[in-house]
Amino acid sequence: MSKTVSHNEDDLVFLDETVRASDDNILGANNGVWLVMIIDDDADVHSATTFALSNVAIQNRPLAFLHAYSAQQAREILANEPDVAVILLDVVMEQQDEGLQLVHYIRDVLHRAEVRIILRTGQPGYAPEIDAIQQFDINDYKTKSELTRIKLYTVVTAAIRSYEQICTINASSRGLDMILRASTELMAMQTLEEFTAGVITQISHLLGIKPDGLFCVQETLHNQETELFVVAADGKYQDLINHPVSAFEDAQIGNTLVRALSEGRNIYGRDYAALHFTGNGSSNFATFLKIGRPLNENELRLLEVFCSNISVGLSNIMLVTRLHNSAFYDSLTKLPNRNRLKEIIDENLASTEYRPTTLALIDIDHFAETNDTLGHQFGDMLLLAVAARLQSRLGDRLTVSRVGGDTFGVLGDDVQVNPAAVLAQFERPFSIDGQDVQLSATVGLVRLAEHEGRGVEALKNAHIALKRAKIQQRTGYSYFSRSMGVDIRERVNMMHALRAAFEEKRLFVVYQPQIDMVTRAPVGAEALLRWQTEDATMISPNRFIPIAEYSGLIIELGEWVLRQACQELVRIQRLGYADFLMSVNVSQVQFRHPHFLSMLKKALEDTGAPPHCMELEITESMAMEEPDALIKLLDQITETGVSIAIDDFGTGFSSLSHLQKLSVDRLKIDRAFVTEITESSRGSSIAEMIIQLGRNLELDVIAEGVEDERQAKILTELGCPFGQGFLFSRPLSSDVLHTWLREHKEHQ
Ligand code: C2E
Ligand code: MG
Ligand code: MG
Repeated sequence: MSKTVSHNEDDLVFLDETVRASDDNILGANNGVWLVMIIDDDADVHSATTFALSNVAIQNRPLAFLHAYSAQQAREILANEPDVAVILLDVVMEQQDEGLQLVHYIRDVLHRAEVRIILRTGQPGYAPEIDAIQQFDINDYKTKSELTRIKLYTVVTAAIRSYEQICTINASSRGLDMILRASTELMAMQTLEEFTAGVITQISHLLGIKPDGLFCVQETLHNQETELFVVAADGKYQDLINHPVSAFEDAQIGNTLVRALSEGRNIYGRDYAALHFTGNGSSNFATFLKIGRPLNENELRLLEVFCSNISVGLSNIMLVTRLHNSAFYDSLTKLPNRNRLKEIIDENLASTEYRPTTLALIDIDHFAETNDTLGHQFGDMLLLAVAARLQSRLGDRLTVSRVGGDTFGVLGDDVQVNPAAVLAQFERPFSIDGQDVQLSATVGLVRLAEHEGRGVEALKNAHIALKRAKIQQRTGYSYFSRSMGVDIRERVNMMHALRAAFEEKRLFVVYQPQIDMVTRAPVGAEALLRWQTEDATMISPNRFIPIAEYSGLIIELGEWVLRQACQELVRIQRLGYADFLMSVNVSQVQFRHPHFLSMLKKALEDTGAPPHCMELEITESMAMEEPDALIKLLDQITETGVSIAIDDFGTGFSSLSHLQKLSVDRLKIDRAFVTEITESSRGSSIAEMIIQLGRNLELDVIAEGVEDERQAKILTELGCPFGQGFLFSRPLSSDVLHTWLREHKEHQ
């Protein structure tokens, strides 16, 4: 197959030509000659050899000769000539084994493995031992009388061919090694900007050139036309960063990049390369590099491997960047969300510059009803209008964020963020689609100067103040005061009650089936803890687990749940479900306990539960803490055979490089993203991204909180293999689960 290389639109040359012209890049800098070294103490042998090989060209390259008359002289020449292709060496010079010693020196001391060595001797009796020939990789052994002109030509040609092949192989394995290392380095990059800048650096390393390059992302504009924007640039193109390609003075760069993308292939010119990277459908990337010379075939091949290697990393980084955005920004208003606001408050609290700052939570009254009567779409537009008014009217230098469905958070100067100013924004109606809507709001405020603790607590306190304001009167406000603080008494009471319930065996475990999305057959279950108080009220684990963590009771409680789940697994397997997988939630406090691993092993041993059928669920925030200790612990858990899932995935922010280092088997899509699938037109995006990320990282994915058939259908179409949710079954007690399994057996 002959590839073509284009230098510009009209100027096509065959690749083979380019390659031949630049073979030097693999084979050193001896402009187009093969260096042949003759080592012999007999001057006649030198002249006879050069005469015999004069006018010989191999693969269009002539030979050039280097002459050494002693081993010492040969060493000196070799020290300065890195690219000798063939050595014709006299075995016997002043001393019997001088030739072989020289060979040993070339191979073992100079580490010159590529050069081909042909031994010659005057007398047949001086032939080296066969193992010496093998040990030193000697190419050929001939007596001088054997080397007629024709024979010499044949032997030298064969040796040069083999030298060339060895050089090519070494160059490409060095290149592949570099690609591997480059990929590993690139995977550690967290943002698209870092990653793409890294790509330019790595390609330059790979080719041994200056990093004159730029990296573009193709974006679709409002008018559906596409434009390439530079996201990273280095060297002579440095100033082009963030510019659209169409604005370049040199139109050839843009044209070539567009062509590489539309034709879906790399384009190599006489002194440049335009490389395309296939994204994950929604994004396309291309890079332009000034190379300054043509590339040889080996380099072309390496670049192709590099590009396909990088494409995967690139689409992962895009997925993670988008996940990051959805973790920190509200998709409707594009404002920072609750997570991001927490961070901004933390930054503000940590700042040394003192500015009296207030956090206000603004809750729109009766928004749910408005939403229900006028429809979601209208509700969305209302929220956008409120966001816009808060942003434009309340003053500059403040942060407006959306912390919940109908709740906005505003952080700013005490003077700007005050109840009167905030409530004044709701005096005039909001106009949506020509229709006026009058809204009212309630505000909870916290003065950060009076606040101890971090952003999370500040938000919590603002919520407490908001609640208080709502109780007192509508369309009011309330500042947080310490007396409103969390009712510690209530906590202490609950802690006692929980401990008592545990001791009196009033806690129990239920199991929620997990199914195969395609066949709907049961594949496993998640163990969930339940607490029913004496007056028969159920208390949600979301309330009592934090208290169990806080009091340390979770250590005992968690072990008990694990053992219950192990025993249940053994029972289920006895019923004939051999591959049934049992998932158990593990809390942060439990996981950090120094005896966690031994506790796990002991529970498995005592109950006889097969480790490969047990799974531990850790939350995404746990997965992101204390990287080194965590990596080690997860490895140790994996060694026991127990698998690991990341629960509530998508709610935190996992960096890709970190995720890749963890021994994790499964991602559990948080219920919020499953619900979202059918709720808005933007719908499936996050769930879809997680499914795709799972596929790229070869991790299993399960969706939790699947409540209706539409969600199940979309998830199945997106390729989500497993599901859990009320649609399939609520959490069931052990007995009911067994009945449920029997009833659903026909699905298997
Ligand atoms: P999780 O691990 O994310 O568990 C899933 C929660 O979603 C469970 O709530 C489950 O009942 C609920 N759920 C499942 N399917 C649906 C659905 O289709 N719709 C809706 N609306 N909800 C669904 P639950 O049992 O109240 O547990 C809440 C959280 O408490 C769990 O979240 C987990 O973080 C924690 N938890 C429960 N049991 C334990 C335990 O034994 N140990 C620890 N450390 N945490 C536990
Ligand atoms: Mg869970
Ligand atoms: Mg969950």
